[in-house]
Amino acid sequence: DAALAAASSTAPADTPTIFDKIIKKEIPSTVVYEDDKALAFRDIQPQAPTHILIIPKVKDGLSGLSKAEERHIEILGYLLYIAKVVAKQEGLDDGFRIVINDGPSGCQSVYHLHIHLIGGRQMNWPPG
Ligand code: ADP
Repeated sequence: DAALAAASSTAPADTPTIFDKIIKKEIPSTVVYEDDKALAFRDIQPQAPTHILIIPKVKDGLSGLSKAEERHIEILGYLLYIAKVVAKQEGLDDGFRIVINDGPSGCQSVYHLHIHLIGGRQMNWPPG
């Protein structure tokens, strides 16, 4: 919701989010890929037949893409590569969409950087 999103967008960059609980397995999620740096799990409110979130296990101040610093370049590239690996694993051979929402105007609601991997249906442009 917009008010909640606006409030959390002003929280300090290392404030824990629900994704920390998912990383620690304190709340359940459907994990489709995991390694030491990245976690990918199914979105609880899927916008397409395949809707997966790819996140860094260590947030390191990366509450959103707008907070990226030079030290994040490697993990940002890595997460995009893992998005491709998961797309292949999911059989999205005909194409897919990658989305990173940032800030209130970008409709971001969880302030732990995440890449949306969306596929399994025809996408449209412009997005909503
Ligand atoms: P938006 O909520 O507008 O999509 P974000 O880009 O911040 O904004 O995306 C957060 C995503 O996290 C949403 O798609 C939401 O459905 C998903 N989500 C929230 N809580 C959970 C959860 N417990 N397990 C899986 N996905 C979740």
